Amino acid sequence: MKYIKGFTVFSLISILLFSFTPIPKPTKHVCTNTWGFYAHKRINRMATFSLPPELFTFYKKNIEFITEHAVDPDKRRYAAKGEAERHYIDIDHYVKPGEDPFLVVPKKWSDAVDKFTEDTLKAYGIVPWHLEVMVKRLTRAFKTKNLNRILQYSAELGHYVGDAHVPLHTTENYNGQMTGQKGIHGFWESRIPEISAEDYDYLIGRCEYIADPLEKAWEVVKGSSDAVDSVLSFEKELTERWPKDQKYSYENRGQVMMKVYSKEFSLEYQRMLGQMQERRMRGSILTTASFWYTAWVNAGQPDLSTLNGEISEDMKKQMEENDKFFRNGKVVGRDFEN
Ligand SMILES: [Zn+2]
Ligand SMILES: [Zn+2]
Repeated sequence: MKYIKGFTVFSLISILLFSFTPIPKPTKHVCTNTWGFYAHKRINRMATFSLPPELFTFYKKNIEFITEHAVDPDKRRYAAKGEAERHYIDIDHYVKPGEDPFLVVPKKWSDAVDKFTEDTLKAYGIVPWHLEVMVKRLTRAFKTKNLNRILQYSAELGHYVGDAHVPLHTTENYNGQMTGQKGIHGFWESRIPEISAEDYDYLIGRCEYIADPLEKAWEVVKGSSDAVDSVLSFEKELTERWPKDQKYSYENRGQVMMKVYSKEFSLEYQRMLGQMQERRMRGSILTTASFWYTAWVNAGQPDLSTLNGEISEDMKKQMEENDKFFRNGKVVGRDFEN
């Protein structure tokens, strides 16, 4: 959603109708995309509670960091080339309608490169393979008991797991731009959780060891991809039977008014989808915790009780840099809202 556009429309209305109210100044706002910042943070935070006791103590101690930095990969999309494609895969790019992309795209990175070239894979997104890379990185960090890296990779792994659970992160029609449904990306992953996520049930039980992380990553992507049809068609169907003037509303956000999908429309869409956002968030939480646990087991179950330090100055600096780019910047690569 475009905050600035929202302001323009509203400012016209306010000049015409509410000329006594001071006209708000537009604030520069960078869209957050992916699951909304709220959901990403929630996923990482709740994943902590799914861990077995040996890991829970360590993650609980660092829960604020893991929560806060759940969104770093999205912030980095404003600074770093090569970041954007880690958040999605346009799996339907590789097939004609009716064909099964999961039979066409090789699961292993090297096989996929042989078949399609690295450039093509990067152009259409690499999230399943990047998940495997992240599990390996986290495993190494556990092996060397590197506190900085354990925390960073844990937080970031949770981010990519969350993204892989979003149906619209697995299609070329990621913002409904090919079917006249522009805006549906933020609607599905940000607006609905913003309205409802406080009420979701996050108690998901104990995480599990994942013998084949790449296989698991593909399973998640397939679950998302299978849901794309409903995500798009239900919105279309609902739009057709919903009063035109009640699909959107205006909400006050800080200094600006923003055009948003109305609460009633949002809730009805969520109901039609059978609480899909809640189910995908729960899946994200369980998979995140399971990947953390798997990396730790694969590292030989190191004792973490001695890791009490703070993150290094270098790492703090790097994170501040990301923040700076994020506040000022433009996404390098795909911006889901456009
Ligand atoms: Zn993302
Ligand atoms: Zn997204």
